[in-house]
Amino acid sequence: MKKEENFSEWYNELVETAGLTDKRYPIKGMNVWPAYGWKIMQYIDSFIRQELDATNHDEVCFPLLIPKTEFQKEKDHIKGFDAEVYWVTHAGLNELDIPLLLRPTSETAMYPMFSIWVRSHGDLPLKIYQLVNTFRYETKQTRAFIRVREIHFFESHTCHVDEADAQRQVEEDFEILEKLMQKLCLPYKLLKRTEWDKFPGAYYTVGIDTAMMRGRSLQLGSIHHYRENFSRPFDIKYEDVDGSTKYVHQTTYGMSERLLGSVVGVHGDDKGLVLPPALAPFQVVIVPILAKGNVEAVTAQARALRDELKAAGVRVTLDESDERPGAKFFKWELKGVPLRLELGARDIEKSMVAYARRDDGKKGSFDRSKVVDEVRSMLEVIAKDMRAKAQKFLDDSIMDVDNMDFKEVPEKWLRFGWCGEQECGRKIEERTELKILGSPYVKEDFHGKCLCCGKETDTVVYAARAM
Ligand code: ZN
Repeated sequence: MKKEENFSEWYNELVETAGLTDKRYPIKGMNVWPAYGWKIMQYIDSFIRQELDATNHDEVCFPLLIPKTEFQKEKDHIKGFDAEVYWVTHAGLNELDIPLLLRPTSETAMYPMFSIWVRSHGDLPLKIYQLVNTFRYETKQTRAFIRVREIHFFESHTCHVDEADAQRQVEEDFEILEKLMQKLCLPYKLLKRTEWDKFPGAYYTVGIDTAMMRGRSLQLGSIHHYRENFSRPFDIKYEDVDGSTKYVHQTTYGMSERLLGSVVGVHGDDKGLVLPPALAPFQVVIVPILAKGNVEAVTAQARALRDELKAAGVRVTLDESDERPGAKFFKWELKGVPLRLELGARDIEKSMVAYARRDDGKKGSFDRSKVVDEVRSMLEVIAKDMRAKAQKFLDDSIMDVDNMDFKEVPEKWLRFGWCGEQECGRKIEERTELKILGSPYVKEDFHGKCLCCGKETDTVVYAARAM
């Protein structure tokens, strides 16, 4: 199982052997979450809740089914999702007058209600979110967490008095995202999608992209400004201070279980998962090194160590199974536990605890009396180093180009000038067989020529093979 040699095989095998997913459920692309994978996803969800609650969003839960009549109200939206929708056409033995669909996303479920809820400027901003499963009929090869048909999904939806206030929401979403990504140790780029690639119905879309192996990009989520594109067809209006009636401006922000897929793909190695400490169900595993004659004494010390760490709030497990230490190391490395502590008779004699880091394999020992503080600060160091390593990987994945004279397209993200004309953009995509991810939301200093027509431009864009 080599990540470098065959990423797909490596990934597909790892997500199952590490206990993140079970793909044997008899519907393709709808996988089971076993306990270990679900636990990690629940940590991610809890970080999302924490940040959304801190920014005055309210959690809600909408029905899974959407009537066809509502789904059809925004024309671009239905065009974008039509081919991916699952339909419910019967209830019991009766055919339904109005077919229902399983939400592929919840705009058309929520907005009929928003038009009832929003009455006056006092109701704004309306900021809500939900963590639910959505459904999309993927026709491409499915891949656990990354391309599935039942998706564990986060979506926030907001309504504002005007475009500027909606714009402030987009900026707030970026701050929320940054805090979350710190915990996941994932670097990313915020790239404003091209007109032909934006979310169906959006005024603009900012994609959140990270780099995977061999120049691939993976979209982790997206943030959209809708302006009045949905409030008009769904009739979401409010009475302003001066008594006039206005349409709200809306935004959405969505992310999914792909976050977990990215953690696997970005941080994992040939030994298995490498979990950021914030996500790890067990941040520390203690492996007792037992020998004849000292089993009871060492076990007692190992339990005391576990209890001490647990009392200090560290998520820790003590492996008291009958396996040999080597087999235990292998097992917990596969599961991605950030820090392993080993305790044997000699360590106890010297009042030391041996450790091994999962992320870089470095080993050493802690003073037994300072072990709680040492473990805490080591977990922080591990998170910091994981972030730096992943950031370097993303930076190294990017290559500046000023012409398309390559025989083979480099296995990189390409960065180049673009005049902004759709015709040029399309030609570049055809020639390179890459997707233009977009221009950086936070402007990057650039002056050059359009990769296609040669016209001078200050606009730089990124393109990559999307996963
Ligand atoms: Zn051009």
